[in-house]
Amino acid sequence: MSDIDAGELGELLLSIQKLDTEILGLKRDIEGLAEKHNLGGLLEQLGKAKEARAEAQENLDDITHDQHKLDGELDILSSKIKKEEEKMFSGTVMNPKELSAIQAEIFSLRKKSDEMETGDLELMEAIDGGRAEVEKTGRMVEEVSAEERRARDEYDRGLVEKEHRVGELEGERDKLKQEVPDEDVLALYEELLESKGGLAVAVIDHGRNCGGCHIEFSRTQIDRFQHDEGVFRCENCRRILVK
Ligand SMILES: [Zn+2]
Repeated sequence: MSDIDAGELGELLLSIQKLDTEILGLKRDIEGLAEKHNLGGLLEQLGKAKEARAEAQENLDDITHDQHKLDGELDILSSKIKKEEEKMFSGTVMNPKELSAIQAEIFSLRKKSDEMETGDLELMEAIDGGRAEVEKTGRMVEEVSAEERRARDEYDRGLVEKEHRVGELEGERDKLKQEVPDEDVLALYEELLESKGGLAVAVIDHGRNCGGCHIEFSRTQIDRFQHDEGVFRCENCRRILVK
């Protein structure tokens, strides 16, 4: 461990950084996974579809109830008409005044019955429409529900895959960390990783720029990078610099 030279330490830190960068990227992917698969949006759609189906069902139940009620009223009305007709043709009522009163009653009851039958037909049509709406909204619920299940499965698969990969990379990284001979260097690395947006170790670009903050180094610094081996710090962003 202690025979590691400055150049090797730089390479080691860079390898650790590369693994941490990949891990951070995967963790960000995991955070965005639910949104990527539109889980929230699909759940909202599913809620709305279920609401529409419940509304359609309620509407159908209401119309069906009204129609049954009307059917009942029509039954009562036809037995009333039948009774009046029986009375009229029974021969027991002889008084013409009374007979014409019965006739007028029958006429008015028939008129009412016709109106109610028209209403009944309208309600039956509305029931057909209501049933179609229940079916349509029911299909919508099934479709959205299937889509939501599919999306959730994909999300679960993606999550397991990515978490597994994170575990592998963390294992590799932790192994490399054990090779770092200096605990202070490791502590510095950790601290910078936390405070510098996940980039603790930067390479010196083109021999003169910080790969982290991109500042151009002074001539003297560039000379140092060229002639010294090992690990440096950027004077601007304080990141660990390696060649
Ligand atoms: Zn810098």
